[in-house]
Amino acid sequence: MTATPHTDPDCLFCRIAGGEVPADLVYRSDELIAFNDTNPKAPTHILICPTEHIATLNDMEPRHAGTVGRMFLLAADIAREQGFADQGYRTVFNCNRLAGQSVFHIHLHLLAGRLMGWPPG
Ligand code: 5GP
Ligand code: ZN
Repeated sequence: MTATPHTDPDCLFCRIAGGEVPADLVYRSDELIAFNDTNPKAPTHILICPTEHIATLNDMEPRHAGTVGRMFLLAADIAREQGFADQGYRTVFNCNRLAGQSVFHIHLHLLAGRLMGWPPG
């Protein structure tokens, strides 16, 4: 049995995590990175990713539960640090085609700075 690779050399967000592709980083640790989206959908639009390659939410395993929990803790920390925690913000995971996922390495969108519509488009 071969082990699942923890990075994919063809994956954009693995390459950002590895420092091969530049990004406007907001946070980095061995486990997580956060960086500004290059095509922001709100005045603040930050992507929070694990450094490990996980293609979609469907590929998560029980061992990823802590990492995914810490993605949300980081979102709330960034919201407090950047001063929009009380005003409000939205966190989104898109999974696969119908949800509009375009980069197949899981990422939590952290959006803030405008009124968000509901239901989402
Ligand atoms: P998805 O559509 O998969 O939920 O979200 C992918 C996000 O990645 C999009 O919001 C898109 O603007 C962003 N994105 C795509 N390419 C790059 C890039 O090279 N750098 C950064 N910082 N964001 C990117
Ligand atoms: Zn990846």
